[in-house]
Order: sequence, then structure tokens, then C-alpha cells
Amino acid sequence: MNATIIANARIQGDYFQLVFSAPEMAERAAAGHFTHIRIDRRQDRILRRPFSIHDTDRAAGTVTVVYKVVGGGTGALSQLRPGDAIDALGPQGRAYSPPADDVLPVAVAGGYGAAAMFMLTRRKPGVLLMGARSAADVILTDRYRDAGCEVRVATNDGSLGEKGFVTDLIPKLLADYPGKKFFFYGCGPHPMLMALAKLLRERGLDGELSIDQIMCCGVGACFGCVVKVNDPGSESNWRYARSCSEGPVFPLADVYTE
Ligand SMILES: Cc1cc2nc3c(=O)[nH]c(=O)nc-3n(C[C@H](O)[C@H](O)[C@H](O)COP(=O)(O)OP(=O)(O)OC[C@H]3O[C@@H](n4cnc5c(N)ncnc54)[C@H](O)[C@@H]3O)c2cc1C
Repeated sequence: MNATIIANARIQGDYFQLVFSAPEMAERAAAGHFTHIRIDRRQDRILRRPFSIHDTDRAAGTVTVVYKVVGGGTGALSQLRPGDAIDALGPQGRAYSPPADDVLPVAVAGGYGAAAMFMLTRRKPGVLLMGARSAADVILTDRYRDAGCEVRVATNDGSLGEKGFVTDLIPKLLADYPGKKFFFYGCGPHPMLMALAKLLRERGLDGELSIDQIMCCGVGACFGCVVKVNDPGSESNWRYARSCSEGPVFPLADVYTE
């Protein structure tokens, strides 16, 4: 679907915010959905690039994406200007479940993962645990605070917040809210998600994780983005699921860890 760019500007370091006009997508999108964007018509960039839907404005009919420039596609995207057209499909994939009334929702983000979970704050502001290699990849924390969330940060090099992994923040969070019922939402690099899944299981906690996999068609046809998921009914106890159509969000019970 052709969509017109309303705004596309750097928000911090290598991170940009793209706003485009897509009234139907804005109407239907929820946290965890993604949009699959064909950036231009170059033959060497025939594949669409997936980006989590960060936010929507239903009244204005716009969709917002926050992206990091990491290669040719995102580099070309960052050069586009208001008025330019992109081809954007969506909302694609399976979204996060809205938080139940009796839980404290905790978003556990690695890098751009913070973009994916923002719309959850609309239903119920909770806690953002933001993890990154260094301060340069700590994004959107002010936006979460403005939405009423408590924000805690961990960086691997200690340049912002606690020094360590984002999962290291969880034991203290649990201790700070004795007797509280939590529900965890995760989005970030694969090793972070695996560590999060193991920790949640050890502690008897529940949640949903967005397992973002490099993908091709984005609609479940090509099986290029499969991830292992638990399948207790099968001989091996696992099966391959298409991250684009069966996910990217999976319940913790389905998340396969070695
Ligand atoms: C469901 C989903 C949601 C996503 N949401 C966001 C988002 O909200 N913001 C954002 O900045 N990025 C997001 N990504 C990642 C984004 O799609 C890639 O960064 C982008 O496709 C890279 O395109 P490129 O042409 O610039 O880079 P390429 O030249 O294709 O690759 C450059 C580098 O990025 C790596 N890369 C490519 N795709 C991915 C990927 N899917 N995950 C991790 N590394 C990748 C490559 O391995 C390579 O090292 C998401 C990915 C998925 C699957």
C-alpha cells in the first residue's frame, strides 16, 4: 500500500522516527504488530524491511515507526523526506495481549525493542526495563516516563543506569513490589530474550516475547523466518513457527530455550 511520509527525522544518534499516513493501519494496529516496508524500487532491495509499529494517531490516520540505521535499507529510509512515498503493509503479525487489570505490566526492552512495546502504555502504564550496550542505544525513556511509566535502565558498559544486562534489573524489581502480580513483555536481541525466558520460568512468572527474525515475505508464505517453539504434542517437543505470521509475539510457554 502506498503511504505518504509525513515526517522522517533523527531523534537520537543512529535512531530516526518515521511518521506516515496509513489510516486503516492506524485504526487496526496494536503493540507488537509490525509494518513491512518496501523502501524503494531498487532491484537489490526487493525485500521489504520489517519495523514494529511504535505508535498510531487514529484521528490523523498516521503510523509511527522508530528505527535504527544499520544498513542499506534503513540508510535509504533515513534519506526520505515528507511527501515521499513508501509501500507499507500492515499491521502484520500477532500483537501482545493487553495487560489484565490486576497485573503490573513490565516491558523489558533491548535497543529498538522499546519502540515495539510503547502502545502497551496506552492500556496501562507500568514499568520499562530498558537495556542496551551503552547510553547511545537507550531510547524513548522520556516518552515512557511521560506516559506514566517507571523507567529503570541497564547498560553493558555502565554508561547509563546500572552496569549489566537488562535481566539483572528483574530481581530488584520483584523485591521492590512484594506480593505484586506481574506480566512481562519482551522485545530485543535473541540472547536477551532467551535469558529473559529462562529467568521468568525459574521465578514462576509469565509474559509474552516478540521474537524478531530476519524475514522475507512477511506474510507466512516463504518460511524464511522460522523460529523453534515448544510443541509438547510432537515427538521432538518442538516445531518451527513462522515469526512473521504466528508471531512475532509468542506466549512465554511457547518460547523454546536450549
Ligand atoms: C518483527 C520485526 C520488527 C522490527 N522492528 C524494528 C524497529 O522497530 N526498529 C528497528 O530499528 N528495527 C526493527 N527491526 C529490524 C529491522 O527490520 C532491520 O534492522 C532492517 O531490516 C535492516 O535493514 P537494512 O537494509 O538497513 O540492513 P541490512 O543491510 O539488511 O542488514 C544490516 C545489518 O542488520 C542486521 N539485521 C537485518 N535484519 C535484522 C533483524 N530483523 N534483526 C536484527 N538484525 C537485523 C543484518 O544481519 C546486518 O548485520 C525489526 C525486525 C523485525 C523482524
